[in-house]
Amino acid sequence: MTQQFEDGYQRRFYYLRLSVTDVCNFKCTYCLPDGYRPDGSKRPSFISLPEIKRVVTAFAHCGTNKVRITGGEPTLRRDFTEIVETVAQTPGIDKVAMTTNGYRMAKHVEQWRQAGLTHINVSLDSLDAKQFHQITGQNRFHDVMAGIDRALEVGYKQIKINVVLLKDLNSQQFPQFLNWIKDKPIQLRFIELMKTGEMDELFDNHHVSGVSLRNHLIANGWLLKLREANDGPAQVFIHPDYQGEIGLIMPYEKGFCSTCNRLRVSSRGKLHLCLFGDDGLELRDLMQSDEQEQQLIARISEGLTHKDVSHHLSEGDSGATPHLASIGG
Ligand code: SAM
Ligand code: SF4
Repeated sequence: MTQQFEDGYQRRFYYLRLSVTDVCNFKCTYCLPDGYRPDGSKRPSFISLPEIKRVVTAFAHCGTNKVRITGGEPTLRRDFTEIVETVAQTPGIDKVAMTTNGYRMAKHVEQWRQAGLTHINVSLDSLDAKQFHQITGQNRFHDVMAGIDRALEVGYKQIKINVVLLKDLNSQQFPQFLNWIKDKPIQLRFIELMKTGEMDELFDNHHVSGVSLRNHLIANGWLLKLREANDGPAQVFIHPDYQGEIGLIMPYEKGFCSTCNRLRVSSRGKLHLCLFGDDGLELRDLMQSDEQEQQLIARISEGLTHKDVSHHLSEGDSGATPHLASIGG
């Protein structure tokens, strides 16, 4: 490795979040409440396998060792297994993760594992089937649970479960969630609801800060785990009586961005320096042949000089992101 992606604040980037589609079959209230709506304009197709290979290779040549495949719902892509394989076979990439709503996991997770998928995050906002349906617009609770069980069966040592905290909805499920991870190798990640461009009163009605949850955990014997160099922004807590762990993701907390180690490429081939940044920097024209790699790297490096020290969520500014499915949450 001769180069390293770094920004003007000495932050180094090891972790690429790659969105492979913005289509989704769920209607999560905080993300796509009306479901996926293709925009009428003639937009380019999603990045292809050869484009994925080139962009991941360029990132790997500049220090990236972890790629998360996300979306929309990434497993809706027919070539999802090939995408996993392509990323996993890129020299330098040793962690291939995905974030999924889990609806296809029970059937396919073994195949994904064989293709090289090393880490799985599944979104599961409730342990109550009715409430799950209410939040996601899909009656798929049992499919998702079967997928999680299957993933553990085929050999994943730990599964991460993303739960978006929603006041007066799933926040009351906390005891059930705790009980669930008592004897299971699951890291429950409670994510604070983030306000995005298309969100209206949902945020005001349902945002709940992770601070009270953190205080509750500490008061009940949970201990903060030390961060490792490439760890994400979650504050992870462990407890001697629990096999599972709890992660808190609190993007509104001061200092959240100081450990930022990730960059994003959207399913249309744009570089996003932040989940809550601007419209993104076009990379696709430089993903067309292997010979363009140095130009691609140069454009990304130049783009990085414009990366802001922090997002501006607390000032009510969520950038140009209409919802997280658009650039990959
Ligand atoms: N469809 C996949 C899924 O749901 O796991 C991957 C894409 S989804 C955009 C990635 C993650 O972003 C999910 O865990 C979801 O719960 C989270 N998310 C979406 N919108 C959010 C918001 N406004 N605030 C916090 N988390 C959000
Ligand atoms: Fe789809 Fe994921 Fe957004 Fe839910 S959070 S609507 S599953 S992209």
